[in-house]
Amino acid sequence: MVFRHQRALALAAIAAVAALGVVGLWACPIGLGAETGADGLGYEDTPRLPDSPWRVHDRNRPQAPKVAPGSAGLSSQAATPPSDAIVLFDGKDLSQWEGGNAKGVENGVVNILKAGELRTRRHFGDCQLHIEWATPAQADGNNLNWGNSGVLFLGRYELQILESHDSHIYADGNAGAIYGQSPPLVNPARKPGEWQSYDVVFLAPRFDGSKLVRPAYFTVFYNGVLVQHHQAVLGTTFHRSLPAYDSRESEGSITLQRHGSAVRFRNIWVRPLKL
Ligand code: MG
Repeated sequence: MVFRHQRALALAAIAAVAALGVVGLWACPIGLGAETGADGLGYEDTPRLPDSPWRVHDRNRPQAPKVAPGSAGLSSQAATPPSDAIVLFDGKDLSQWEGGNAKGVENGVVNILKAGELRTRRHFGDCQLHIEWATPAQADGNNLNWGNSGVLFLGRYELQILESHDSHIYADGNAGAIYGQSPPLVNPARKPGEWQSYDVVFLAPRFDGSKLVRPAYFTVFYNGVLVQHHQAVLGTTFHRSLPAYDSRESEGSITLQRHGSAVRFRNIWVRPLKL
């Protein structure tokens, strides 16, 4: 009888652990543990950012105040870029990019979910970038996934793209944020499904051998509204970890992130800068 009792207890324990596991999987997005970040609104156990009262993805960090952006920042489909710009996408094909599936171009726009991660064939350092994007009109995932993409300069310094009008995550993870580091100054997001724009001046980091002599900087207009002003970048942007300069490159591909949401892109051009 004792044996049977112990066996029943063991089976009950296994069942309880399994049930907790199922609940955990259901409650927590992929890649998140069972800590405070499961709701996508941030953490209380991540490292503190240097010279800042906030942790990485701090759930107590204030959300950027909302601003209605007006109609600034958008081009028509037929708009032409400046004469010295390198056109990265004009509605036709992905010839300027590598890593993508040509079937991701539909009706003159890129669907990043179908195209896959895109990396420019050319490498860029200091540059001005114009890019237009739209998140899905209807949620195609939880708040961490809906509209999640990003523009990664040198393939590693991420200007976040995310549905941030009707939904949000932690302050340093919404649209216009330097991911995991600097929330936008304000939130001028348009409604899900509407076209939005980034106009970016990116200054690449400089190194003397292995020593960082100048960090990267972002200046960003989001729908025509300033959201990052000559903001120094702390390093490669990570989830739940401090940014760090783990590369010594001063030029690299511009990458469009595929993060499981059908984010669309159009009108992408870049002007390399000699400063
Ligand atoms: Mg992203």
